[in-house]
Amino acid sequence: MTADSPASPAPPDVPERSNFIRDIVAADVAAGRIEVPVTRFPPEPNGYLHIGHAKSICLNFGIAAEFGGHCNLRFDDTNPVKEEQEYLDAIEADVRWLGFDWGGNLFHASDYFEQLYGWAVHLVKAGRAYVDDLSADEIREHRGTLTEPGRDSPYRDRSVAENLDLLARMRAGEFENGARVLRAKIDMASPNINLRDPVLYRIVHASHPRTGDAWCIYPTYDFAHGQSDAIEGVTHSICTLEFEVHRPLYDWLIANLPVPHIPHQYEFARLNLTHTVLSKRVLKRLVDDGHVRGWDDPRMPTISGLRRRGFPAAGIREFAAMIGVARTDSVIEVGQLEHAVRSVLNRTAARRFGVLDPLKVVITNWPEDRIETMEVVNNPEDPGAGTRIVEFGRELWIERDDFMEEPVPKFFRLAPGREVRLRNAYFVTCHEVVKGDAGRVMELRCSYDPLTRGGDSPDGRRPKATLHWVSAAHAVPAEVRLYDHLFNRPDPGTDGHLFADLNPASETILNGVMLEPALADTPPGETVQFERLGYFTPDADSRPGALVFNRTLTLKDTWAKVQAKGG
Ligand code: ATP
Ligand code: MG
Repeated sequence: MTADSPASPAPPDVPERSNFIRDIVAADVAAGRIEVPVTRFPPEPNGYLHIGHAKSICLNFGIAAEFGGHCNLRFDDTNPVKEEQEYLDAIEADVRWLGFDWGGNLFHASDYFEQLYGWAVHLVKAGRAYVDDLSADEIREHRGTLTEPGRDSPYRDRSVAENLDLLARMRAGEFENGARVLRAKIDMASPNINLRDPVLYRIVHASHPRTGDAWCIYPTYDFAHGQSDAIEGVTHSICTLEFEVHRPLYDWLIANLPVPHIPHQYEFARLNLTHTVLSKRVLKRLVDDGHVRGWDDPRMPTISGLRRRGFPAAGIREFAAMIGVARTDSVIEVGQLEHAVRSVLNRTAARRFGVLDPLKVVITNWPEDRIETMEVVNNPEDPGAGTRIVEFGRELWIERDDFMEEPVPKFFRLAPGREVRLRNAYFVTCHEVVKGDAGRVMELRCSYDPLTRGGDSPDGRRPKATLHWVSAAHAVPAEVRLYDHLFNRPDPGTDGHLFADLNPASETILNGVMLEPALADTPPGETVQFERLGYFTPDADSRPGALVFNRTLTLKDTWAKVQAKGG
């Protein structure tokens, strides 16, 4: 099945950094135990992928690519009650968007249902599995605890013939949900609870997204996973640490079944992030209870949410490389993810002007209808990004908080009688403040110095502040959504009240934002920098004439500051 599978190509920027799993693979290749590695990414299609999955995707696809092997995308679709086609489609789209390609290696555990059933029969015939009539509660009671051994089920010693008959009738649909299960016959006294006759099959009368009503018994994760690895020729089955205690069962099943190949399981620490919850169950509740706009809400740690927020795939890959892979659980600062994203955006994002909280400036010595055009660079970090034209006229918008009528000490921006530089344009001086009701500043009347075009003065004058601006005659209005952490606490839910830890200010909507006209043409999926303000991306809700932008991140990098202090 995998002999002619093409190698997984790596995205161009995946750095090769060592980690203990990569070292194991390298040693296996060097010793000739394998020719090339075969890995797999095995999502359960019961929700959207999150940033923790991205860590696993980068690891599995990265190792396969580095050593010339390939990585399978395999859906672990053994629980039809929770699984939906929407999730299958979203997972494929997200892995592809992250930059990884499984070629022809798209599989489903459900592809193997017939083979898995055959192997269940094999275990029964060998006296290594039995049909148990105990209820789920009774099985739990019999299982014992970490300190006490379990007790045998009264059905444990059924004959092979009776077990074969009952298993066939389970498959044929004769019994209700939960009436019977198939269990491996291993050791009810094992110190490892996973070996105390684990359940292999359960009865679930539910339609499956792929197999429809063909089955009413479904294999458990434990019975499906290792055997699927064996069928696919997986060499390194990489999963998170909570499966370490399942490994003896993984190995027991492989040893007791006539599988075509012997895979090995390796475990690494899952990703945990501050201010974030990485559990599909909880993320689904946030969606179902309406705390967010959907699975792809820009505050969600899902791949689709991060994409809608404006995080580039390269930033997520960079983050995965930065944090590495270890065998000890830890919590990563969400600022580290933001730092990785900023470092990519700083190199790649086009610079634009947008005014979030506009205040009108009228240049009184500028002729009524005159428009000048200025050619400005798109990205000082990337000369190849070229230039664009911006218009300058008599009426402009500047940021309201760039002006203070009575400036406090250390406020160097615009104030009555003070001169500032308008970036790429002219020096202006404020002469008059026009107020409306309740004393609110409505307009500033300023003059410009015609000798300062481009932002320099021949006499060497250097204003202390440079402001961004947008020509009022050309500005395009927009809605801007500002985002902050979804949870207030770095460790949400620690007190047991997860939803009480939601940050009520995680989304702030600004209307009447004024953008330079070029922003109306920003393609979906592109993130730009509004100079002095941060990174922004058009939202999927954006329409011609009704633009919506999301703030991806501010420019302030708290993680870089922590690093600089050696913290
Ligand atoms: P969740 O806890 O969010 O429901 P899961 O482990 O049940 O996640 P799966 O779809 O079964 O989700 O996961 C697919 C793969 O992604 C597994 O190999 C799993 O180990 C890995 N994975 C899931 N969460 C993380 C994480 N936080 N960090 C790293 N890898 C993860
Ligand atoms: Mg899982």
